[in-house]
Amino acid sequence: MTGFDFQTGEDFAVAMDKSDPLRSYREHFFFPKRLGRDCLYLCGHSLGLQPKTVKAYIEQDLKEWAELGVEGHFHAKHPWVPYHRLLTDQTAELVGAKALEVVVMNSLTVNLHLMMVSFYRPTKARNKIVIERGAFPSDQYAVQSQIRFHGFDPATALIELTPLPGESCIREEQIEGLIERSGEEIALIMLCGVNYQTGQAFNMERITRVGQAQGCIVGFDLAHAAGNLPLHLHDWAPDFAVWCSYKYLNGGPGCIAGCFVHERHARAWDLPRFAGWWGHDERSRFQMGPQFQPMPGAEGWQLSNPPIVSLASLRASMDIFHEVGMQRLRAKSISLTSYLEFLLNQNSSTNFSIVTPREPVQRGAQLSIRIPQNGRALCNELAKEGIIGDWREPDTFRVAPVPLYNSYHDVFRFAGHFRSAIA
Ligand SMILES: *Cc1c(COP(=O)(O)O)cnc(C)c1O
Repeated sequence: MTGFDFQTGEDFAVAMDKSDPLRSYREHFFFPKRLGRDCLYLCGHSLGLQPKTVKAYIEQDLKEWAELGVEGHFHAKHPWVPYHRLLTDQTAELVGAKALEVVVMNSLTVNLHLMMVSFYRPTKARNKIVIERGAFPSDQYAVQSQIRFHGFDPATALIELTPLPGESCIREEQIEGLIERSGEEIALIMLCGVNYQTGQAFNMERITRVGQAQGCIVGFDLAHAAGNLPLHLHDWAPDFAVWCSYKYLNGGPGCIAGCFVHERHARAWDLPRFAGWWGHDERSRFQMGPQFQPMPGAEGWQLSNPPIVSLASLRASMDIFHEVGMQRLRAKSISLTSYLEFLLNQNSSTNFSIVTPREPVQRGAQLSIRIPQNGRALCNELAKEGIIGDWREPDTFRVAPVPLYNSYHDVFRFAGHFRSAIA
């Protein structure tokens, strides 16, 4: 189906690594250790590894804080007041946006709320939000609380897309059918670019087009898509998108998050929004006037001056992404994940099944393996040997061969250990 010509032997993995143009990037990251050896880490969908350069980036800012104190705001090598802009071009490149459309700020759930304050504006006739059933809990809590905040009831105002009986993933025609049937009642379509549980990637371009044709606002949570899939947010033209930067983006635990607001809203001064001084027009920000006047574009949604140390950490990682480029990453990713699927499918065991879609366009790096019996014990057993994936109740083992730092040999070894463990 994928047109790859994989082979089962270890020599094949070794040869693939030899000819991999991205193989040296593995050396840019620290791998956690267990039993004195590097872990076999397939968990970049949960927390990306630390680039070895992070420390130097952070130390430079700490040094300047020590040496300059408050003067660092304007006189550091990278002054702190405009520091977040060091990330703008690379972020725009990563998600396929214009510089005006992106900003790094806050954390994902905070940004999701800020976006809904502006873009979820329910009326009596049109108040529903569409999400996936089993969306990430934080997203569920966020949309439910927004619905209640506006005086509506999630029991009627929340539409959850559910896979058909006997299926694990949501069919595209289900999404489009729902939007075409109920579009006039839907205020906001808020789906994930990639579902965290199944690894299913949605056709964001189509969903946006179909949703906007019905007058719905469309926003995406790209927690599992940013740094995983090539994105073209400006052209696809959703109203907003949010993502975190500690999964595929390797920014570090709790790292500052990203936000996209489409250019057509860049000067929508009449949109309701929660305001803070960092979103105020920078030309007059330090006049400290009482009237809020937002910056044009995504920057106008900033609230606070951002954590410089967190930005420094993200810079280290984004410099690597910039150097590699999403096109090359995605090319390796499709091959690496297909190779993992190929090896797992050599296994005749009926004790597990892969729930992630088989078409590469419908997935990123992650494969979700359903293990109906004793899956958690299996996962723990592998972890003891330093093989790190992620277990999600009730029955899903999620593994992600990350093209930036995982090798074909990692995938080969994982498949071998998995085969013994599942037997
Ligand atoms: C990881 C993840 C989050 C986490 O939210 P934070 O605000 O960063 O803690 C939220 N939503 C989705 C879909 C995620 O995958």
